Amino acid sequence: MGSITLEGVKKSFGPHDIIHGANLDIEDGSFVVFVGPSGCGKTTLLRMIAGLEDVSAGRILIDGMDVTEVAPAKRGLSMVFQSYALYPHMSVRGNIAFGLKMANAPKEEIDRKVDHAAALLNLTQYLDRKPRELSGGQRQRVAIGRAIVREPKAFLFDEPLSNLDAALRVQMRMEVTRLQRQLATTAVYVTHDQVEAMTMADRIVVLNAGRIEQFGSPIELYERPANVFVAGFIGSPRMNLVTGAVAEQLGAATIGIRPEHIAIGGAGAGWDGVVSVAEHLGSDTFAYVEVPEVGLVTARCPGEMKISAGERVHLALDPAHIHRFGTDGKAL
Ligand code: ATP
Repeated sequence: MGSITLEGVKKSFGPHDIIHGANLDIEDGSFVVFVGPSGCGKTTLLRMIAGLEDVSAGRILIDGMDVTEVAPAKRGLSMVFQSYALYPHMSVRGNIAFGLKMANAPKEEIDRKVDHAAALLNLTQYLDRKPRELSGGQRQRVAIGRAIVREPKAFLFDEPLSNLDAALRVQMRMEVTRLQRQLATTAVYVTHDQVEAMTMADRIVVLNAGRIEQFGSPIELYERPANVFVAGFIGSPRMNLVTGAVAEQLGAATIGIRPEHIAIGGAGAGWDGVVSVAEHLGSDTFAYVEVPEVGLVTARCPGEMKISAGERVHLALDPAHIHRFGTDGKAL
């Protein structure tokens, strides 16, 4: 069991209020990702759950038990950091076994757990190697193995893949997701990469300046962003957000439409403009179109589209996918 509840959790560093009262219910077995721009408080919130940072106000509960004042080692959680911090002189086996040895676990139990974790992580053939003889992805797998053998109530991941190159990140992202499903252990995962959040999470917490803007499944956030911040943060390329007269005509302070919901050269109501830049990715064509009174609009067309800078185009907006937001930024 590993449900985690935050009740009115606040954090201040000296005079600076960093987390302004977070309420959250993380279900046992779920994969929850904290995402938000740099400095929004993701790591601080995770470290408070781990017990590595005190809480200025509010309570943290694990399986319904108040752990706000409980020492990190007694919370039954395992943390995986960005810097894997392996012991260089120990073998992979030694590194994975270290915590269990310190806890004086019997040798047979240690061997069984290490072998099981190594098999899950495809590390069996590397158990006798030293960390310097491993790739970055393999080292991070050792760090995850060290977390697995402790059989925690929940894994806490702090940007574990950000030291890896792009291709390896995609591969490790799948491996971590698969592993979490297999173990069915609660995971809380911090990242600033919204693609990582969308692909890995059961539910995403979008944080902005120490506040939870929305908590929901990736598709809920994509289809029904609660406010302008979430609308602009989730989705790549970003949603087009337009204020002023164009939005007012549609009865909103801000309207939003995603690039994939704009048909370049399509029929139907929309905007006329001039292509400023066209990007041909093969799989998609992105057009950045300058529209008078609207600004630069991003449109995305699947596949290759013969279009180039300077061309005049009509952009047809899909009316079913226009998001409307009020003066307070909230979805109408
Ligand atoms: P990033 O993606 O850049 O790691 P983050 O969302 O994880 O950002 P935090 O590391 O949680 O952000 O920091 C949130 C805010 O708290 C930042 O403004 C940071 O400067 C501040 N902060 C973090 N730790 C401390 C500290 N020990 N003392 C003072 N301020 C701190």
